[in-house]
Amino acid sequence: MNAEKLLCSLIETESISGNELDIANFLKDYLHEMGFIAKIDGRNLICEFGKGSKTLLLNSHLDTVPVCPGWTLDPFKAKKIKGRIYGLGSNDAKGCVASMTNAFVSLKEETINGKIILTLTCDEETGGQGLEYLIKKIRKPDAAIVGEPTKLDICIAQKGDMILKINSKGKSAHSSYPEMGINAIYKACNYITSLNGIKFNKKHNVLGFPTIAVTVIKGGLKTNVVPAECEFIVDVRSTPKYNHEELFRMVKSKLKDADVHKHSIRLVPKETKKDELIVRIAKKVLKSRLIGSSTMSDWVFLDCPTIKLGPGNSTMSHQANEHIHTSQLNKAVESYKRIINGFLS
Ligand SMILES: [Zn+2]
Repeated sequence: MNAEKLLCSLIETESISGNELDIANFLKDYLHEMGFIAKIDGRNLICEFGKGSKTLLLNSHLDTVPVCPGWTLDPFKAKKIKGRIYGLGSNDAKGCVASMTNAFVSLKEETINGKIILTLTCDEETGGQGLEYLIKKIRKPDAAIVGEPTKLDICIAQKGDMILKINSKGKSAHSSYPEMGINAIYKACNYITSLNGIKFNKKHNVLGFPTIAVTVIKGGLKTNVVPAECEFIVDVRSTPKYNHEELFRMVKSKLKDADVHKHSIRLVPKETKKDELIVRIAKKVLKSRLIGSSTMSDWVFLDCPTIKLGPGNSTMSHQANEHIHTSQLNKAVESYKRIINGFLS
């Protein structure tokens, strides 16, 4: 099956996060037909071949987000129109899964000086039992390629994500006597305004500056009660120029008496040095740009020189009528193959 055909079959096997078993089994059977032994672990697939001390990990994710409003095509029916393949997950990340799997399969006839481990994992969009779980069970790789849509640019750094929960406390009162209370929503507004005052001065070469966004706010109980509590969430996208503790202190210093709680600090930023072998080989093969990425991926769970690389465009992800260009898809098969060959030569 060529990558286009394989992608169409993957689109037509529904795999919204939590429901990846069918697609994992489909790929297990496909790999079996191609002469490989793949294993299913949870809702993940793992397949390896080759011998030697050097190990390269190829990873991408099987799950998709749910269908969003606005689709005019059937999201679970692959459709090719003018050099594009449409369908849910075509871009994020089934195009990567199809091209990576086919590159892996095509190397069977070649002499590989090392081991390739292919992991196609679940729960990337939600977090859970995917690569975070599987990585503990395999030998630490010497390098990794994470398949995500990058337009085949070579992504060498990825932002982290720190989530803080902030509570502003006030004092309730009847709303006809607001001066008797302390309005927690007004307090929260002041805190939020002061967050705009945070200035970052350490710029990362490909990621730029960290960003801060207030994403959720909850407060108030009744129309006629001055609220005593208001809670909001701050989403900080970090770069390797700052650690999460440092960013936490910067936010906290702006919020004085507020109760700032670390909701999640484990999704740290990642980067790979330009002179790492995997970067140099990818650059030689693709001659494309070295970029940074603001979006999260399973790279966060890896601890080896890694690049994020794949066909498709991340701005097309999680959208109605999601699609991918077949030219990108076919170029990706050849590029993955040459990078793997170069790394394990
Ligand atoms: Zn993705």
